[in-house]
Amino acid sequence: MIDNKLKIAIISAHSCPVGDLGAKDTGGMSVYIRELARELCKEGHTIDIYTRVHDPADLRMEDLYEGARLIHLNAGKEATIHKMDVYFSLPEFTLNLESFWKNNGLEYDIVFSHYWISALVGKYLQQTRQIPYVNMYHTLGAVKNAIGIGESEPALRILSERETVSECQRIIVATEKEKQQLIAYYGALPDKIGVVPCGVNMGLFKPVDKITARQKLGFTDEKIVLFVGRIDPLKGIDKLIRSISLLKNSEKIRLVVVGGDENSQPELEKLKNLADELNIRDHVDFRGLVKQEKLPYFYSAADICVVPSYYESFGLVPLESLACGTPVVATDVGDLRNIIKHGETGYILKDNSPEEISRAITSQLSLPRKDTKSIMSIRESVSKWDWPNIAGRIAVEMRLALDTRTKVAV
Ligand code: UDP
Repeated sequence: MIDNKLKIAIISAHSCPVGDLGAKDTGGMSVYIRELARELCKEGHTIDIYTRVHDPADLRMEDLYEGARLIHLNAGKEATIHKMDVYFSLPEFTLNLESFWKNNGLEYDIVFSHYWISALVGKYLQQTRQIPYVNMYHTLGAVKNAIGIGESEPALRILSERETVSECQRIIVATEKEKQQLIAYYGALPDKIGVVPCGVNMGLFKPVDKITARQKLGFTDEKIVLFVGRIDPLKGIDKLIRSISLLKNSEKIRLVVVGGDENSQPELEKLKNLADELNIRDHVDFRGLVKQEKLPYFYSAADICVVPSYYESFGLVPLESLACGTPVVATDVGDLRNIIKHGETGYILKDNSPEEISRAITSQLSLPRKDTKSIMSIRESVSKWDWPNIAGRIAVEMRLALDTRTKVAV
């Protein structure tokens, strides 16, 4: 460490931070890593992000920002593979990581690993190289299994989470709720956990004039209800579709669903069939993946954004929508209770039943359309989540991890 500036190795083995957002396994975590890296290197820290080659065209090494590089390491098939196959490729990943470090004379102050799979890489590096590792889990297998929606999480994940929770130097969570879950499910030590929310890029996510946004996207004057995210059963999109069928005047409402790549097709098909069965297929517009740069048009064109999830570790989409001045209707998941001002900038649902969602949509859509002043005040309500503020807090957590380690060594 020179002048208090850190050299950080970020590990994200299973998901590439520059991968397509909204794909089956690429969402908030990738946004988190690249936004955080951008801010940390602006502060003078040096960042190398390690992921696996998932496409033969991947550059082996590229500069993402000044002071932040992305390194693709060979590990398993050069294709998008199942997360468990990434797990089985970890020996190859760590071997290639170590030779990369050796060949390039690299040393780091700290490892910041993401998700349970990369936590195992952090654990290995801590044991073999004595570099402390901080982990962020993003979601917890035990919590997902307790909810019981979608694929169940393998015992191996639960075991690895328990093991790395006890062995890592520090854990970062985005919400107080997740801290309590780590303690309850895995016996984590409370003092080891730092709570730092995720951030939003206020420069990218800003309001666009509604009429301009609608023209650009080909929407007319109908009421627009927006969903943005990965197409995953845990997101509760089926409940949202059902809620649309319960609305009076549903013919004047369009539900726009953004997200989903070729690997999300089976799930998307189920949702399209559901809309067919409910006779509302003409009112549900599946737009597939949308580049983040275009999302401000979607958020600004919408009257409301709905987040009907069973589980979110944090919930970036609602923050982005509010930064664009669009109210959010959401379940009480992640940090949304703190992000949404209930009755002011949106509505926190009691649950994600179609009846509850449709009631909230009806009441939100009956409010007068937001003028510029209210749009700007909704945006202002989330300004404290701007990335520079959040990255500063993460750097403090990293130093804390290093300090604790020094104390233990003495
Ligand atoms: N996203 C995107 N294009 C899409 C769908 C999603 O850029 O088509 C981005 C969205 O802007 C957000 C992230 O993917 O930043 C999803 O993050 P969130 O925390 O809401 O959900 P997660 O993926 O972590 O479950």
